[in-house]
Amino acid sequence: MITTEELKENLASVEKNIEEACKRAGRERDSVKLISVSKTNPNEVLEMAYELGVRVFGENKVQELTGKIDYFNEHVTEQPEWHLIGHLQTNKVKYIVGKVKLIHSVDSEKLAAVIDSESKKKGVISDILVEINIGNEESKFGIDASETVELVQSIAKYQNIRVKGLMCIAPYTEDPEENRKFFKKIKKLSVDIADKNIDNVSMCELSMGMTGDYCVAIEEGATMVRVGTGIFGRRNYAI
Ligand SMILES: *Cc1c(COP(=O)(O)O)cnc(C)c1O
Repeated sequence: MITTEELKENLASVEKNIEEACKRAGRERDSVKLISVSKTNPNEVLEMAYELGVRVFGENKVQELTGKIDYFNEHVTEQPEWHLIGHLQTNKVKYIVGKVKLIHSVDSEKLAAVIDSESKKKGVISDILVEINIGNEESKFGIDASETVELVQSIAKYQNIRVKGLMCIAPYTEDPEENRKFFKKIKKLSVDIADKNIDNVSMCELSMGMTGDYCVAIEEGATMVRVGTGIFGRRNYAI
């Protein structure tokens, strides 16, 4: 398990990188939210991060996420923000609506419809991002960039959902510069959609950039970066 010292160092170096990337891009530090991707890490490690000041966690599996939310409800008074960043099945929507700050991974109208009806049932409005597949062969999820406008328009009619922007998972690469073109493309797409002034739709959030490429993503306009390994160290999928 990672030690508090290591975690503290990792958080400090990610923070420094974010600040420098913001400076290079002429952006304010608070225009970028760091999401600490805690998947596969045990509650104790999340609590350690919480004690070091982390208040925004990202998880990719519903069951793991709800378990961690329950743990935090019992153990801390000021609840952190939870972001669902992984694929969401329609039959699991009911477990997370009302509990998460943002669902990053909406890629069909069917899923949006279920989130809408569950939100209505619970009396909440759910904020979502539309996930784009930017030609990443490893990622089966997300819609084609060319279908984005149509999907966003069809989701806009649901009254208990608010589209806040776009999300993408760039391919794994040793050289983050290789992903710059994808980030540029998503940024342009979000500007094009914002220009259409669709009711109920804002394009203020761009969730892009992971451990290998978040600095480039920030330079290209990311408002949320999802960093796992860079904070918590290599994941152990055996647990
Ligand atoms: C795991 C994961 C991340 C974090 O990946 P790292 O490379 O460890 O930073 C970001 N986004 C999504 C959707 C993930 O599943």
